[in-house]
Amino acid sequence: MTEKTDLYSMLPSELEAYLTSLGEPKFRAKQLFPRLQDGTPISEISNLPKALRERLSAETLNPIPTVEKKLVSKIDGTVKYLFKLYDGECIESVLMKYKHGNTLCVSSQVGCRMGCRFCASTLAGRVRNLLPSEILGQIIAATRDSGERVSNVVMMGIGEPLDNFDNVVRFLALVNHADGLNIGYRHISLSTCGVVPKIHELAELDLPITLSISLHATTDEQRSAIMPVNNKWNIEELLSACVSYYKKTGRRISFEYTLIHGKNDTEADAYALARLLTSAFRGTGAPIHVNLIRVNEVAEIGFKNPSTESANKFAELLNSRGCVATVRRRLGSDIEAACGQLRRSNS
Ligand code: SAH
Repeated sequence: MTEKTDLYSMLPSELEAYLTSLGEPKFRAKQLFPRLQDGTPISEISNLPKALRERLSAETLNPIPTVEKKLVSKIDGTVKYLFKLYDGECIESVLMKYKHGNTLCVSSQVGCRMGCRFCASTLAGRVRNLLPSEILGQIIAATRDSGERVSNVVMMGIGEPLDNFDNVVRFLALVNHADGLNIGYRHISLSTCGVVPKIHELAELDLPITLSISLHATTDEQRSAIMPVNNKWNIEELLSACVSYYKKTGRRISFEYTLIHGKNDTEADAYALARLLTSAFRGTGAPIHVNLIRVNEVAEIGFKNPSTESANKFAELLNSRGCVATVRRRLGSDIEAACGQLRRSNS
């Protein structure tokens, strides 16, 4: 993909090995790592000798994306960025402002190959994986542009994070590093459509991040019709991976359920969802949490959004059956804030 060395994806020990291979003293890594991670351009890292800065600037990759387009919601101040990568590809990030701090929704791939029927990100397939530094770079670029500190990260932008597993795990180590941005794992959520073997692999790493599962249906027939990934790993395998994940990490899992009018939003669907989740987790002590999302209508797809009242009713039914359910606020509804819509309209 790129011939240039990607310093921004290196952890301090790797940076040290790289710099010593250039004949530099070890301590340069300690000087360089925090500055790379906070997005200081290499040419401005003043505690490094000028010759070294020039060499690194010329010979290494600059993976920090630039702002190609920016939309600010008049309703709630949500900012949607279309970022341009070093090779000209574009991705999206969304900065959401909450009372408890700012959350950035980041992309993990250029495009996506999972094929979920309601999702704009996957319509043209996957172009490539993002480097760890390009995932991190979205936080750096959004912070620089907005002047706002990002305190929470959700991996719910373009792409399937578990389809880019190694780079995502490395990104998590970088962003959490005490000498870097130092964002706690508990402030990071990772959302997956259900790549079951990778959920098991993630559980082994035992990171205290929040795992979100895009469930969206209660039967295999219904789920396979909107999420092709279900043909590979069905609901039973997915929920059993979730239960092992909970047992291994002790972290509760949050389930995403996109309400699509006429497809999965009836009273019977609500009861089936409650039954499915409570029986999967029975005896584990895990609290069950469902985030209900009203589908963002994507022009090419034509799925319809249920009314607010019927979404609230669906939540009430879940709550009455022992599942904590909330209807997600629709931030940035005036700026195409749903996954992948801006990248498509720009291409
Ligand atoms: N690939 C990951 C993360 C990216 S999608 C995953 O599938 O979880 C983030 C969330 O947005 C997922 O729950 C996804 O199903 C949902 N989503 C995608 N398109 C949507 C749309 N048009 N309306 C509402 N939610 C959507």
